[in-house]
Amino acid sequence: MKKRLLSVLLALGMLVSLVCLPGHPTAYGESAKDKLAETRAKIAELNQQLEAARANKENVMEQKYLLDQRCNALMEEIDLIGVQISETTSRIEENEVQEAAQYDLFCRQVREEEERGVISYWSVLFKATGFADLLSRLDFVNEVMDYDKSVIEDLRAIRAQLADDRAALQQQEAEMNEAKTELEAQIAEADALIAQYTKEEGALQALHDEKEADAARLEQEIREAEERARKEEEERKRKEEEERQRQKEQGGSGGSETPVVVESGYAWPTNDTRLITSPFGPRPAPGGIYSTYHGGVDIGASYGTNVLASKSGTVLISRWYGGYGYCVVIQHDHGNITLYGHMSRLLCSEGQKVSQGQVIGLVGSTGNSTGPHIHFEIRENGVKVNPLNYLTGWVRGFH
Ligand SMILES: [Zn+2]
Repeated sequence: MKKRLLSVLLALGMLVSLVCLPGHPTAYGESAKDKLAETRAKIAELNQQLEAARANKENVMEQKYLLDQRCNALMEEIDLIGVQISETTSRIEENEVQEAAQYDLFCRQVREEEERGVISYWSVLFKATGFADLLSRLDFVNEVMDYDKSVIEDLRAIRAQLADDRAALQQQEAEMNEAKTELEAQIAEADALIAQYTKEEGALQALHDEKEADAARLEQEIREAEERARKEEEERKRKEEEERQRQKEQGGSGGSETPVVVESGYAWPTNDTRLITSPFGPRPAPGGIYSTYHGGVDIGASYGTNVLASKSGTVLISRWYGGYGYCVVIQHDHGNITLYGHMSRLLCSEGQKVSQGQVIGLVGSTGNSTGPHIHFEIRENGVKVNPLNYLTGWVRGFH
């Protein structure tokens, strides 16, 4: 039982899609509009990402600027210390020269003393292995050479101080060079980050440009579709006006809600127009081959005008009905029904008895439709028949 219901529903669904889609004006730009909205959302997202990437890059560039400043200051300090070191070094050299001179003087005095034979063990002193050794040997002769010894010792003390100073300066220089190396590493890191952010920014920008191009293309597509729809609408209005003129010439009532009953007992579901914008039966598919079937006729009535019951009966359906949008189905005698699709408003309820010409809703464009019209079907014993077999005086509004 359930299975059967399901298959009936499926069949109905298929009918709705088969019957209604092909005969109607294309749902112009709808998919393009969806795509455009999607593309615009993507662009907004990319804009945010770009902003973030640029902020990151600016941040790193600021940091790098500060690092550069610090590095430059440090290099200046290193230069200054280098100058101090070289000054100290030349002072040490000067000191060495002075000491050598003093030592020469000292040696000359020692030699003179020896020649005069005052002190006999001077030769021992000349066997000193170095200056330090000599100074210790001088202990033996200090009562004689006190003065010279103190001069040399003073020089030696100054030189030791200078050497200490130089060592301290060199230590400072080494520390600064280390700091500089560290700063340079940080700068290199910042450079790498900047390069990375630049690359990211470039990629995001490229994607952004691509999406902007997509959006422009879609907008163009929508504009063209709207232009086509506008021309179609103009054409429809022109034909409608022709029809009105024709009816006036024939003395038609126009605007009266008195239904025009035809022999079969079916009346036009509108008094607004007799324009048929899409006929019953096979319709050319986009490829040009007859492959789809329109189960009713489309009547090009104006938005908001009355939709009338074609024949008296009981309202079977009065609700949203898939691709038919707001739809009314009326059950008549002898198992025949009529269907009215795409209404903007429903003005009858299911189970209600309606008489011929009674207003059951207002013309709209709901469901699979973009322009306002009435999709009108007649089914006899479940078979869709061409309503134009019954409705007379129709005007051709299709190619
Ligand atoms: Zn239709």
